[in-house]
Amino acid sequence: MVVMATSHAPKPPKLGTHPLPAISTSVPVPPMNPEPNIPGLPPAASRPASVWWMILIGAAVLLGLGILWRVEPAGQPFFPRCWLYQTTGLQCPGCGATRAVHALLNGRLQEAIQLNALLVAALPLALWMAIRWLWGWRTGRWWPNPLVHPWVLALLGGLVFGFGIGRNLGG
Ligand SMILES: [Zn+2]
Repeated sequence: MVVMATSHAPKPPKLGTHPLPAISTSVPVPPMNPEPNIPGLPPAASRPASVWWMILIGAAVLLGLGILWRVEPAGQPFFPRCWLYQTTGLQCPGCGATRAVHALLNGRLQEAIQLNALLVAALPLALWMAIRWLWGWRTGRWWPNPLVHPWVLALLGGLVFGFGIGRNLGG
């Protein structure tokens, strides 16, 4: 006769309830560290972008401007073509912007205005935004940005749209 286990005997642990021994095959992952503080710069928490992004973007912009400064965009196959102009012959608000930047970099303001007046008109705005961004990034104190106001955005959108219409009516 088979001896039945008495009720006093310890029950085997139910599957799934017994904690498995902690065997880890993976390399322990250190806790996520925030960006390290860099001497001479504001605390990492107040910086919206990392220094490396800043350097990368700055280098890309400088490289692009450098190419645009030396190379005449007209007739160059590697500069972006305008889809609207190519298909319809109509100029979009951005048409001529590349050539306008090229003209500006070579000190030909009047030519730049003729190529894309909107771009030239937007330069002070772009400059202000760049300074605001640099200042905020450097100090952690951000000037208020009126550009994000819906009415300002609507006005700017209207200006861009109106410019796109107007430049095709001119002749
Ligand atoms: Zn265009």
